[in-house]
Amino acid sequence: MMNDLVVRGGTVVDAAGARQADVLVRGGAIAAVEPELAVDGAEVVDAGGAYVVPGGVDVHTHFALPVGSVTSADDFESGTLAAACGGTTCVVDFAGAGREPWQEALATWHDRARGRAVVDYGFHLTVTELPSRPEAAAERFAGFAEHGVTSVKLYLAYPERLMVDDATLGRALTASRRTGVRVCVHAEDGAAVETLTTEALAAGRTGPEAVSSVRPPAVEAEAIHRAATLAGAAGARLYVVHLSSEAGLQAVRAARAAGVDIHAETCPHYLYLDQSHLEAGEQDFVCAPPLRGAADREALWGALSAGDVEVVATDHCPFTTQDRRRGTGGAGWADFTQIPGGLSGVETRLSLVYQGVVSGRLSLERWVDATSGAPARLFGLDGAKGAIRPGLDADLVVFDPGATRRLDASSLHSRCDHSPYEGRVVTGWPALTLSRGEVVAVDGEPADPRPGRGRFVRRSPLAR
Ligand code: MN
Repeated sequence: MMNDLVVRGGTVVDAAGARQADVLVRGGAIAAVEPELAVDGAEVVDAGGAYVVPGGVDVHTHFALPVGSVTSADDFESGTLAAACGGTTCVVDFAGAGREPWQEALATWHDRARGRAVVDYGFHLTVTELPSRPEAAAERFAGFAEHGVTSVKLYLAYPERLMVDDATLGRALTASRRTGVRVCVHAEDGAAVETLTTEALAAGRTGPEAVSSVRPPAVEAEAIHRAATLAGAAGARLYVVHLSSEAGLQAVRAARAAGVDIHAETCPHYLYLDQSHLEAGEQDFVCAPPLRGAADREALWGALSAGDVEVVATDHCPFTTQDRRRGTGGAGWADFTQIPGGLSGVETRLSLVYQGVVSGRLSLERWVDATSGAPARLFGLDGAKGAIRPGLDADLVVFDPGATRRLDASSLHSRCDHSPYEGRVVTGWPALTLSRGEVVAVDGEPADPRPGRGRFVRRSPLAR
C-alpha cells in the first residue's frame, strides 16, 4: 500500500478553472482537492510556484507500428516512458496495421503493450471493412465496446492499405449512432492524392518536396466535407484526427455551422513546423497530412485558442533516419511514396502547447483542456482521467513554468535518433509526473517505473 501523498501549494488547473489547492492522493486515486489540507503522516510534494495539472492524455499514438519492412521507432516501453517524462500519463494507440481482422489486431496490440507500458493506455481500432447489413455493423461496434474499445478510425486515404469507401463510412457512422462508439476519420481524399502522385512521379518530382503538392489542403477539406455530410445524414458524431490546414479548418467550421456534431484534433507539428523542411528535401519531416504554411499554422493556433479545435494529440510515429532512408520496401526509397512518414511528439506535446500560454495565445485552461480534459471527455476516459477531482486516478503533473528544456533527441527519451524540434528551447516542463499516485518521472527523467505497470483502460461509449 502506498502512503498518502499531498501535493502542496500549487495552482491546480483543469476544466474547473485555476485555483490554489492541495491535492491528497490516497491508494492511487485523488482523495481531496482543497486549500491547506492537513493530513497526518502523509508524504508531501512541494508544488509551490508550479501548476498542478491532470496527466496528459494523448489520443493519437502509433507505437511499434509496422509499415512495410520498417517499424515506428518507439514500442510501448520507450513510447510510454517518453510520454511519462513529458507529462503524459495515458495514451490511446491505434490497433491495426492493415486489413487484418479486428480480433487479431486487438490481440496483437494487447500483446505489444502488456508487460511493457509504464503509463496507462487504451486502443482505438482501425476499421477497413464492415458487414453490409446495418444491424451486423452495429453488432460489431457493440463488440468493440465490450472489449473496452469505444472509438474507431476510418481512413479516407491510402487506397492500397487502409482506405474505405463512402458506403462503409456511412455504415460506420450509423453504427456509431446506435452504439456510442466514436468514429474518427483520417481526412484526406485518397483518390485525389493518388492522381496527384501519379502526375508528380511522371513529371520526375520524386523527393520529399513533392509531398506538399500531392496532399494539398484542398484534399483535406474535401474529405472533411464529405465525411461531415455523411455524419450529418446519419445523425452521428464525427472526430477529425490531425487537422493540418486552414482549408480543413474552414470545412470543420462549416460542418459545425450546418449542425453536424464534429470535433477536431491538431498536432504540435502543425502548430510549430512548416513545409520549408520539405522544400529543403528533408526526408525526416515527411508525414501525412504534410506540414503546411505559416497561414495554416496561425489559423490552427487561433482555432485552438477559440476552442474550435478541441484537442492536441501527437500522431507520434517516428522512424529512425536509417529506416526512413531504407524506405518501406527496405532497399532504399526511390520516391516519396516509399518514405515512412510520421513525427515524434509524445514527450514534447505538453510543453509545446504550453508555449501558447507563454506567448499569450492560450489560457491556462485551454492548454490543460486541449492536452487532457477534452481528449478524456471525448474518448470515454473522464471517469478516470483528465481532471483533478476526488475519485479520479491520481494522474498528476507538477508543471514547473520556469524550467527550460532543449528539445533535442539527445535529451529526450524516444528511441528515434532525431527530433523535429532539434535546437528549440521551451520554457515550462514537468517537474514531477504521477501515474495513479506513483512517481514515474522527475524533472523530465524516468523515475525507474516498472515496465508493465501501465494498465489497459477500458473506455466508456458516448452517451446517446
Ligand atoms: Mn496517425
